[in-house]
Amino acid sequence: MTWFRRRLKASHTAHQKLEAVPDGLWTKCLKCTEIIFNRDLEKSLKVCPKCGYHFRLSARVRLAGLIDPDTFVEYDAKVVSGDPLGFPEYPAKLARDRAKVGMPEAVVTGEGRIEGLPAAVGITDSGFLMGSMGSAVGEKLARAMEAAASKGLPLVAVCGSGGGARMHEGLLSLMQMAKTTAAAARLHQAGCLFVSVLTDPSMAGVLASWASVGDIIIAEPGALIGFTGQRVSRQAQVIDIPEDFQLSEFQRDHGMVDMVVARGDLKPTLARLISFFHGEKGA
Ligand SMILES: [Zn+2]
Repeated sequence: MTWFRRRLKASHTAHQKLEAVPDGLWTKCLKCTEIIFNRDLEKSLKVCPKCGYHFRLSARVRLAGLIDPDTFVEYDAKVVSGDPLGFPEYPAKLARDRAKVGMPEAVVTGEGRIEGLPAAVGITDSGFLMGSMGSAVGEKLARAMEAAASKGLPLVAVCGSGGGARMHEGLLSLMQMAKTTAAAARLHQAGCLFVSVLTDPSMAGVLASWASVGDIIIAEPGALIGFTGQRVSRQAQVIDIPEDFQLSEFQRDHGMVDMVVARGDLKPTLARLISFFHGEKGA
């Protein structure tokens, strides 16, 4: 009975706590269920202060966190996908996600400074058609890599994609896998550092192309990283699959990822890497 009363009291307290916080001011942690004030969550870069769970970040918020203020110059803001196959409802979905995410496409590219060091960047937003790569996303990333190669800049590409190659553009999306990988090879030949940052989720055709060919591959803690999803992998039943087999830490322990870096340490880690490979001035 004591245990039951204690549980009842705890539940009552949690309920009172919930009722005391008006809607829109708090977020419940998806991992530990802690109730976190949104202003505290913003301060912690959307990392749960109790359990360290990394919430997904929009590309714009991540860009603001990674690039020094007032240094970002965007590339190719007007490059957007059309509807080459006349895929049902594709234009409506593009319009919906442009309004929802506030970006014309699922990636933002450009150049700026990271702790004073010049760098090119590409950041995908997993909220825009699941961060999938259509013609425009592939083209923008390839152009960013080519710009970095011609200017001698390091490139940091942040992956957030649960959708892989965008099915609405069919083969044209699949072509982007080869195009971005070839651009990454030219960046490598130019002697420029390419750091790939894998965030939750980094899956399918995006992981199977540019996201996994970085010179250094960093992952955020607890991110889902893989080619085929866990459900499909289990259905294939080729081997027994451990519970954590597509998480960052598993991928690091098995050689797919070089390091797992908490979000708060990402910017200084990138600056150290750029400084080490490109020198103190970064280029
Ligand atoms: Zn938590």
